[in-house]
Amino acid sequence: MGVANDRSIAWHVSKALLEAEAHIIFTYRKERSLAKLTKLLQDVDQSKYEIVQCDVNNDESMTEAFTTIGEKHKVIHGLVHSVAFAHAEDLKNRFVETSRDGYAFAQDTSAYSLIKATNLVRPYMTEGGSIITMSYLGAERVLDGYNVMGVAKAALEASVRYLAADIGPSNIRVNAISAGAIKTLAAKGVPSFNTILNKIEESAPLRRNVTPQEVANTSVFLLSALSSGITGELIHVDGGYNILGI
Ligand code: NAD
Repeated sequence: MGVANDRSIAWHVSKALLEAEAHIIFTYRKERSLAKLTKLLQDVDQSKYEIVQCDVNNDESMTEAFTTIGEKHKVIHGLVHSVAFAHAEDLKNRFVETSRDGYAFAQDTSAYSLIKATNLVRPYMTEGGSIITMSYLGAERVLDGYNVMGVAKAALEASVRYLAADIGPSNIRVNAISAGAIKTLAAKGVPSFNTILNKIEESAPLRRNVTPQEVANTSVFLLSALSSGITGELIHVDGGYNILGI
């Protein structure tokens, strides 16, 4: 869930999964994303993937998407939740000025959507499963311009733990990756993004920004049996930036 274009983290995860010979079902929200996806997939064997519409702000759309996918395939092994959105004004204004609507919208799109998707996918994870989501350091620290999204990511990370505890007995694992800053469409909405990229390059233990491929590799690890003992966890793929006291 969450390929908007070739920069999307979800697209890099998809490429790594295709290399691992996974069969992938892509979900998209807007027609624009469908057009981009179709173009990105033009050289991929059509038997390897499907595309289904799913707007995570809409229960009906989510239910229809997961029912369509589940009824056709019967068994699903993994889910990649790589979706987030907040209104631009809630990232630009002071955090204290966050509107009720803006707060609810960011939470609904970026955190609640994981809970709903997990509930809809779990009946089809009959052979065990692995669910992953993408978070960011703004959940743990105050980062300039991340504001309402930081609070949504904090809820997302807490949801990962509650979901993991709830559905672990069904052998379904739920984990989050806290990705370093990566230039994508979503990142454009964060006003201080370029400053963040420079700061990470100067001070992260690895002295560079991470690549989307590195996030994709960890995603494949978390989706595969190699990580079978890990659930409810947050793995930072950020060149070590989070360990610094700055
Ligand atoms: P992106 O813009 O490529 O992906 C965000 C996706 O969310 C898009 O595909 C968009 O269509 C989808 N989306 C938004 N609202 C939706 C809705 N109502 N229904 C369905 N889909 C919806 O950007 P990205 O950076 O690849 O973001 C993917 C995830 O990674 C997000 O959760 C983001 O917060 C997280 N993340 C990004 C970074 C970064 O620096 N880029 C760092 C850490 C975490």
